[in-house]
Amino acid sequence: MKIDIVSVFPEYFDVLNLSLFGKAQAKGLVEVKAHNLRDWTHDVHHSVDDTPVGGGAGMVMKPEVWAECLDDLLGLAPAVVEATANAADTAGTEVPTSDVATMADVTTEDASPDIIATAVDAAPSSDESADVSGTPVVPADRPVLIFPNPSAPLFTQRDATELSHAGHLLFGCGRYEGYDARIPSYYRAQGVDVREYSIGDYVLNGGEVAVSVMLEAITRLLPGFMGNAESIVEESYTGDNALLEHRQYTKPAEWRGIRVPDILLSGDHGKVDRFRRDEALERTNEIRPDLIEQLDCKALDKADRKT
Ligand code: SAM
Repeated sequence: MKIDIVSVFPEYFDVLNLSLFGKAQAKGLVEVKAHNLRDWTHDVHHSVDDTPVGGGAGMVMKPEVWAECLDDLLGLAPAVVEATANAADTAGTEVPTSDVATMADVTTEDASPDIIATAVDAAPSSDESADVSGTPVVPADRPVLIFPNPSAPLFTQRDATELSHAGHLLFGCGRYEGYDARIPSYYRAQGVDVREYSIGDYVLNGGEVAVSVMLEAITRLLPGFMGNAESIVEESYTGDNALLEHRQYTKPAEWRGIRVPDILLSGDHGKVDRFRRDEALERTNEIRPDLIEQLDCKALDKADRKT
């Protein structure tokens, strides 16, 4: 998986050389590069922000700098985009409106017809867009551009699973009051798969922490990333009927007067499995009743229903 990250603090991602992510890089499972957005500026101050249109506090990240950077990293050279659009204009080519369903916020004049056609061709057919468990699958040959944003839908394990199938992820870290809203709209109109995600209902100083969170959740699902592949199979939020995981214990059986539940020491795997399943159901009901409401009752067994 190829991963590009754009930030005004690319050094932040030096930590990716450590631990499992460092090993995954060494094994060639992931190829990660952190870029400095300021490398695409042309002024002496390398400025990436400007005052908000309409007034208000703080600064907003400028679209021009982001566009130069993203065009480069996505291989959408601006000269090619403009030349293609101009050629289409000269030839009087019209973009059929039915082909531009993704162009919600940008007019057809703003987008290159060739790129739109490529994007429409590249869009997954309904047969290819989900794996056997129903989790959507991202085509490996199409880059996904991801912007962390506190006012976007919440990033979930399902998103992580979907994105773990991608061949190329490109993350853009916001700072200040955020990035100009036209940036994601423009790239969607170019046929790029653009996602905006929040990692939680709070506001961070910048996108770097949010990108680190998403990146870790995605890459640990790559085959070969974890030392023991089994450890990602039964986890909280994982699978069709996702629950919080049961509690975990290690040795000794008694520590500071607290014993692990006797059944876990019984050696009876059937009983241990039932005990853990009941605990997962009870804890989920107590802590995250919203997950219980989402369960498919038909997939529960009789004993589950008693819990
Ligand atoms: N003005 C924005 C608002 O109120 O929604 C907050 C901007 S925040 C200070 C700067 C950047 O940090 C955002 O553009 C985003 O990239 C990142 N960020 C902050 N909180 C985040 C969160 N909960 N999830 C994802 N990204 C976040």
